Amino acid sequence: MKVLVVGGGGREHALAWKLAQSPKVTELLAAPGNAGIAHLARCAPISAEDIVALADFAEREKVDLTVVGPEAPLCAGIVDEFERRGLRIFGPNKAAAEIEGSKVFCRHLLAKRNIPSPQFSAFDNPNEAKAYIRQKGAPIVVKADGLAAGKGSIVCATLDEALQAVDRIMVEREFGAAGDRVVVEEFLEGREASIMVFTDGRTVKPMLPSKDHKRLLDGDRGPNTGGMGVYCPVPYIDAALFDQIVETIMKPTIAALAEEGRPYKGVLYGGLMLTREGPKVLEFNCRFGDPETQAVLPLLDGDLAEICEAVIDERLHEVKVQWNQGACICVVMASAGYPGAYEKGKPITGIEEAEREESVIVFHAGTAVKDGQLVTAGGRVLGVTAVGKDFNEAAERVYRAIRRIHFDGAQYRSDIRPTL
Ligand code: AMP
Repeated sequence: MKVLVVGGGGREHALAWKLAQSPKVTELLAAPGNAGIAHLARCAPISAEDIVALADFAEREKVDLTVVGPEAPLCAGIVDEFERRGLRIFGPNKAAAEIEGSKVFCRHLLAKRNIPSPQFSAFDNPNEAKAYIRQKGAPIVVKADGLAAGKGSIVCATLDEALQAVDRIMVEREFGAAGDRVVVEEFLEGREASIMVFTDGRTVKPMLPSKDHKRLLDGDRGPNTGGMGVYCPVPYIDAALFDQIVETIMKPTIAALAEEGRPYKGVLYGGLMLTREGPKVLEFNCRFGDPETQAVLPLLDGDLAEICEAVIDERLHEVKVQWNQGACICVVMASAGYPGAYEKGKPITGIEEAEREESVIVFHAGTAVKDGQLVTAGGRVLGVTAVGKDFNEAAERVYRAIRRIHFDGAQYRSDIRPTL
């Protein structure tokens, strides 16, 4: 089977790595891929957002299965376009992907079905949003409705910040058209966790929960980033809480989408706050998380290609989705300056030595090859990942591996592991 992975970050490297292990997969392609993915797949220089060019490529190459990493092509309808041409593709169609594409749609859907969520109100007028904020007080959260590369949610400690957030989103248009509408919602307190599930629209098979670390610096300090590291599973989610999340949040959301005439197929990612009143939804994503996928897939004891096919054919109930014991940690190595402006083209050394450490995989995010030398090509450069029998072993392995890798200005967190 010939498989195409769409995207070119750490998540897509992890997808390609797992798909390459499937006995069903005879050839792997990626668009656009990156320098790490190029070891596993033939990379084509097509943007992940150029849906027509991707479909042309899949037709020309007679691709049997396409797996999509990022949200932008899913929300723009890549699945609809591939299906229209009779091409097999894993992911939700445009209507179902709106669960991530519009926070207003998502919040209304959850409220209608009483799926545990923060209180909220949605606005297309900044003055009305501000009046609501004045009435509610701070802390409060202001979110741009549309896709904003993970930056559209502004957690506001003070009233002033919240009023400014409305201006930033709706008046200054910091996130462009994503800011036509805002959601203003209750600030929730608790610990965060993510759960991804495979679903064919009816059957739901959960993955292990994971915990991302959004802040740049140790101790959850510094600016927000795309994610600086993940551990999997999550020790503070026991079997009962896990069941509660799947039964009261993930399954009802998938059922609600089906009842709304938007049957959901693919991976549904729930970003959750574990509050004193129980788990509540912070957001849904319509795809694998990044970097979460880099710490979750190494523990998957199953054939990802087979799972994707079963989802497409709506027979997920026939497939086993099992998990290995143990723990996995992924630590992101980022360029100096990230998440602000950063330089590219810094030579990277030591990856082979790092991968000689037991159970270590180095996923590439922003890398490229220039004049035969591996160099940095993005803000998040590598996802150094290790599996161990427990978190102590995984942490020892991952940080030993990291110390072998060098590039000018590399920054990473040294505390990616569960705290008590
Ligand atoms: P989102 O993009 O909606 O997942 O939000 C990004 C981050 O903002 C989350 O990971 C949380 O840390 C924080 N956040 C979002 N919504 C809320 C909320 N209602 N209460 C508290 N924190 C939130």
